[in-house]
Amino acid sequence: MLNTDAAIVPVEQHFILSSLPPSRAQRRLAVAVVLALLFAFAITEGPLSTIQLGRIDHFVPIYATAMFLTDSITAVLLFAQFSMLRSRALLAIASGYLYTALIVIPWMLTFPDVFSPNGLLGAGLQSTSWLYTLWHAGFAMFVIAYALSKDNDPARRLWRGSAAVAILLSVAMTAAIVCAVAYIVTAGDALLPRINLDPLHFSTLWQFIASCLALWSALAVILLWIRQRSVLDLWLMVVMSAYVIEICLIAFPIPARFSFGWYAGRFYGLISSSLLLFVLLYEITILYAQLLRAVLAQRREREARLMTGDAVSATIAHEVKQPLAGMVTNADAGLNWLDRSKPDLDQAKAAFRQIVADGHRAAAVIESIRAIFKKDARNRTSLDINELIGEALALTRGDLQRHRIAVQTEPNAELPQVRGDRIQLQQVLLNLIANAIDSMATKDGARVLCVRSEAHDGGGVMVSVADTGTGIGSQDLERLFNPLFTTKSGGMGMGLSICRSIIEAHGGRLWVVPNKPEGTVFQFLLLAEVSTASRREQPDNFHLVRASESTGIADGS
Ligand code: ADP
Repeated sequence: MLNTDAAIVPVEQHFILSSLPPSRAQRRLAVAVVLALLFAFAITEGPLSTIQLGRIDHFVPIYATAMFLTDSITAVLLFAQFSMLRSRALLAIASGYLYTALIVIPWMLTFPDVFSPNGLLGAGLQSTSWLYTLWHAGFAMFVIAYALSKDNDPARRLWRGSAAVAILLSVAMTAAIVCAVAYIVTAGDALLPRINLDPLHFSTLWQFIASCLALWSALAVILLWIRQRSVLDLWLMVVMSAYVIEICLIAFPIPARFSFGWYAGRFYGLISSSLLLFVLLYEITILYAQLLRAVLAQRREREARLMTGDAVSATIAHEVKQPLAGMVTNADAGLNWLDRSKPDLDQAKAAFRQIVADGHRAAAVIESIRAIFKKDARNRTSLDINELIGEALALTRGDLQRHRIAVQTEPNAELPQVRGDRIQLQQVLLNLIANAIDSMATKDGARVLCVRSEAHDGGGVMVSVADTGTGIGSQDLERLFNPLFTTKSGGMGMGLSICRSIIEAHGGRLWVVPNKPEGTVFQFLLLAEVSTASRREQPDNFHLVRASESTGIADGS
């Protein structure tokens, strides 16, 4: 089945080195590698290269095995890139690497004195050198084919059939070419022009052939240079430059086999063979790291989304529970007043009015929750924090009485105003007081809730809510403010996290310290309103009492 271009060239190509443009750092690195190779060439070239070092028996098999492995792995990686991008150019260069991997085998087998004096495969004196020539000429040809085909229009550039078929065809054709070359060179040894005088020495014809090879490889470099687009082009240029240097080293002056120049040439061969492999492996590692980061980021984002969803629903449930409970209690009370033999309409009206007030409060709470998540600062007004404390204590009076908790309040009459969302800050106080009640409700001994406000040195207002409850274990201190952390069987673990969000959205801080001798103190700091940081009279409806007047409200005062 034919694919459309869009289907053939998916977004992957934006991440693959055969289509990515090289970065400035990569260009610099490539230039540095070529300069290092030239520098090494300048040192090796000349009389040094003709120094005879002697034969190392296992050198040729080890070298050939290394070349076979690096080239075949490179070919596999390039075929893998082809299967994603379907570019014929990639198929050409992958086949080139496969060609060098395969032709190394007959080169090794025909090498004199490695497996037998004249090499295997019935080779003659010339076979190894001709295989070397065709190996390098062939690879350069594949690179030239790559350079020429990579910029074609999409219709010709892309392989439209199955990638597996293309790869199988390429592998089969390349293997066939290598077999044909090996056969011609070994069977036709006697007919080939003489490159070797004896197993160690070369004729001057070798210099002519090597010059042609060097020019052929240089042509590949030039074509790559002209059509340079991608990271792959850049590193293939470096590979072909190493080819040119290698060929020059083993032809000018002509070194004998196993001379310094000959060994140095093999070293360049190994570099040119492994260079692209290193680049591909590096790219795969980077891509893998990017993939890992992307997967982790995606997972974090999903968790955060779930968390936000959980947090929103838990917050709404948590905050609306209180006014709803109030409405149910007042509705019950109202019905009781009406159910009497002589209904008390005034009391019933009062209960219903309370229901209306609770209904409004629930609506306001929901609105303020939206404001927390939207970080909406529109509802902020100038507030007297002592007034808020009084309101919160009045709203929790029933619970405080039920659990026989004494309340101490220490309002500071000289507090500056703060700017904030009344409903949100009231929720903070209600949550902290509700937690304090919970922590004292299960405990024997003195039950005292102390709510203080004071002017802070830095110009802010600090409020403390202290209880004589169970206190907080050091193991829980760290996660206390985490959403959904709770130690209560029916708890939601949202109260403190909401409190912290609200206070921090107001530019303040909320923290916890142990109370002495027992219990916990939650403290929060809010910034004072700049323009009203002056002293104020207490409002008329101010109903907190000074510490000295500390009262127990359990008795209904
Ligand atoms: P919840 O009240 O639903 O558990 P919170 O976020 O309000 O959620 O509180 C989280 C936890 O912090 C509580 O379960 C409790 O263990 C601990 N905590 C909060 N306030 C106090 C307090 N005043 N004394 C002791 N523990 C407290």
